[in-house]
Amino acid sequence: MKSGVFQSLVASGAAWLVATGAAGAVADVPPPAAPAVCAADAGWNDPATPLRVHGNTWYVGTCGISALLVTSDEGHVLVDGATPQAGALILASIRALGFDPMDVKAIVLSHEHFDHAGGLAEVQRATGAPVYARAPAVETLERGASDRSDPQLEVLEAFPPVADVRTIADDELLRVGPIALRAIPTPGHTAGGTSWTWNACDGADCKRIVYADSLTAISDDAWRFGAHPDYVAAFRDTLARVAALDCDILVTPHPSASALWTRIGPAANAPLVDHDACRAYAQAATARLDKRLADEAAADAATP
Ligand SMILES: [Zn+2]
Repeated sequence: MKSGVFQSLVASGAAWLVATGAAGAVADVPPPAAPAVCAADAGWNDPATPLRVHGNTWYVGTCGISALLVTSDEGHVLVDGATPQAGALILASIRALGFDPMDVKAIVLSHEHFDHAGGLAEVQRATGAPVYARAPAVETLERGASDRSDPQLEVLEAFPPVADVRTIADDELLRVGPIALRAIPTPGHTAGGTSWTWNACDGADCKRIVYADSLTAISDDAWRFGAHPDYVAAFRDTLARVAALDCDILVTPHPSASALWTRIGPAANAPLVDHDACRAYAQAATARLDKRLADEAAADAATP
């Protein structure tokens, strides 16, 4: 009995994280025995087996938070850093796929929250790569904390500040060798929210990947969407922009938001490619924003 318990502890990601924290050198510690299949409701720091999405695009995130690696012979781009605890898992996944973190030449992110930016500082230390972000996200990344421009400010956790953050313009192309990622401005969930699109080719089979940012209209108790008409207008522009994207393969910062584990990995039972996925994703988010605004208005009407 005892040895069984011990082995399951050793095999768990939690035990591995403790071990790397004590040793301080991730490279010397073998990656965890991750489950082959991620559950739809997996935890944010549950280790995932890294795998290919399509062509040069690989999943290197956890079961609960996405990170993608886009590779080339002239360097790689990492998309998102997940939580502070996940930085080491992302680096282990990059190595497990046979890539060298030192070949990561640029890092980008979806939005400036601890569950997607938290691991950036650690990944940046291991890769030496700059982080590219749209202007509204830059100071938050450098501070490791949001300000009152963020609807969720009061419920957000701080995260390790990011040292080398460079500003990328709306719709600018980020190039590393043959890789070209377009920075689509998608403010709404946060002011700095950004979606990224690129082509991933498996031989002649090229697909348009859309890494579409979170589009959920949520806030802390102090912030109301109805009191920020300009913010809501920009949010609606975002929803229209995402709906109109050329979209073969949708991946979202929270894998569950695009049912990713039904579409890749050993348990996949739904098509990876869905040209309607971005439109449907934006439509669901529009319904949620509309409901949020209606709920706020109803609460106002009920207040004497
Ligand atoms: Zn998130």
